[in-house]
Amino acid sequence: DPTKMKDWEIAAEAEKHMKTVYQLAEELGLEQEELLPYGHYVAKIDYKKVLERLKDRPNGKYIDVTAITPTPLGEGKSTTSIGLVEGLGKRKQNVIGALRQPSGGPTMNIKGSAAGGGLAQIIPLDKFSLGLTGDINAIMNAHNLAMVALTARMQHEFNYDDETLAKRGLKRLDIDPKRVEMGWVIDFCAQALRHIVIGLGGKKDGYPMESKFWIAVASEVMAILAVARDLKDFRERIGKIVIAFDRSGKPITTEDLEVAGAMCAWMVDAINPNMIQTIEGQPVLIHAGPFANIAIGQSSIIADYVGLKLADYVVTESGFAADIGYEKFWNIKCRLSGLTPDCVVVVATIRALKCHGGAPIPLPGRPIPKEYFEENLEWVEKGCENLLHCVNIVKKSGVTPVVCINAFYTDSKAEIELVKKICEEHGIRAAVSEHWLKGGEGALELADAVMDACNEPTNFRFLYELDEPVKDRIEKIAKEVYGADGVIYLPDAEAKIKLIEADEELRRMPICMVKTHLSLSDNPALKGVPKGWQLRVRDVLIYRGSGFIVPVAGDISLMPGTGSDPAYRRIDVDVETGKVKGLF
Ligand code: ADP
Repeated sequence: DPTKMKDWEIAAEAEKHMKTVYQLAEELGLEQEELLPYGHYVAKIDYKKVLERLKDRPNGKYIDVTAITPTPLGEGKSTTSIGLVEGLGKRKQNVIGALRQPSGGPTMNIKGSAAGGGLAQIIPLDKFSLGLTGDINAIMNAHNLAMVALTARMQHEFNYDDETLAKRGLKRLDIDPKRVEMGWVIDFCAQALRHIVIGLGGKKDGYPMESKFWIAVASEVMAILAVARDLKDFRERIGKIVIAFDRSGKPITTEDLEVAGAMCAWMVDAINPNMIQTIEGQPVLIHAGPFANIAIGQSSIIADYVGLKLADYVVTESGFAADIGYEKFWNIKCRLSGLTPDCVVVVATIRALKCHGGAPIPLPGRPIPKEYFEENLEWVEKGCENLLHCVNIVKKSGVTPVVCINAFYTDSKAEIELVKKICEEHGIRAAVSEHWLKGGEGALELADAVMDACNEPTNFRFLYELDEPVKDRIEKIAKEVYGADGVIYLPDAEAKIKLIEADEELRRMPICMVKTHLSLSDNPALKGVPKGWQLRVRDVLIYRGSGFIVPVAGDISLMPGTGSDPAYRRIDVDVETGKVKGLF
């Protein structure tokens, strides 16, 4: 009974009966050499061998899960994705999940590891939450190696004249210490490392300068893992990462520092997706997971390719809401992968609808305001404006939406019926789902709605083409997806756009917007469907490796902070069994 047990206790119970990876592999029809076990319950899959063997097999149905504009607590996208996998499994369908790997930062802080909740969870929970097969460690090593190459080079160029450098086969790069774009990475929320000074100690100890740390999942290496189609594509993108600029303003790449190949060497295992399972025994691929408000925020293209060959249904998730996560899935991930979804699930909770209708905003780590436990049809009805807007975003892409009302046991019947009625009036398929409370059995209505929707023809089309001017494309996203009246560019953004338009390669890169997920607008305080506002673009970042133009329309912190009541205070190990306790 999930109302009486903690998530980790439910997971621990389920882990007593979980399948081995060998069983999962047999059910998926994997050949022995395609399975790369990491113990009994976690494996990697050799993507190349699978894709080669099954290249002529038609792809399964491709389902993306997104959500309405959430409250800061999250509206159960991951939980619903896992619940849908369980529901399709209960319907005896051959299904596989394809989800993101959690970051150690939020896992040790307050947000949790995104392993779902209640009876819709993935296991083994401790392995999933604590690094899995080390992909993020590999990313940290690859990324930090680039910083080692950069700082060592700066020191040597400072200490030696051109002749000495030439003897070692080096030509001066003349890196500008004020224009080092990249920071170091660590996968925790370490605010003390946001701004640092390095190279103190003297000539032998490096070149003194300001530096910074980011959380590892914000690394461009992670973004590249999410979008790479294969190792060759990955290697090429790694070599294009811009680490710094020289004193004349020319970009310095990892290739210039002759470190791109070695970075890639750290990643050869990480490029294979990981496989674990739901608590009801369906396979789930876990691969990549950059932040969604500042990066693409999707699990990997490679895992989706593998899943679509191995199963009839693949359920993936795009981080945050339809305006941010789904828009990037639609216009970036699908463009790069060549895949198109058969159906998109838009998750709504009564909690978030109430919040859009006027209820006080619930905050993480604080008690949920009492208004959320009392029936209020007026708020719910008003909040449905946000739901309809998000459904329309999906419709613009030409894909069939399915609204999933992710039911909490505290919701009133009348509130849920009202949302169903509003969807019906607008001709939108809607399903109430109780996967959190009942697992797959509670997600049958959703599974049926999704299977139905997958049988409808789609007419997938991008919002913009890559040869359209950058400003036109940003404006399309702002107006048609966010509902803004227009876009205001601050001087830094104007200058960068000029630079981008003058570069043949850059001007054709897709747009990866930085914006809050807590509002359709760029102001997190505005709920519902904000009207009469302009999107303010302060700057435009260039990620040449992952291949994105990144307009910044909100504050970005690439290093979150740890609060005063972080999760690690409650995590411990049973020293008799080695089992981890207290992971949510
Ligand atoms: P998101 O992916 O949208 O950020 P999650 O799936 O991680 O959200 O869910 C956020 C939190 O809400 C988790 O702790 C999860 O267990 C809880 N949750 C989700 N759905 C329900 C539900 N129907 N009833 C109760 N708790 C839920």
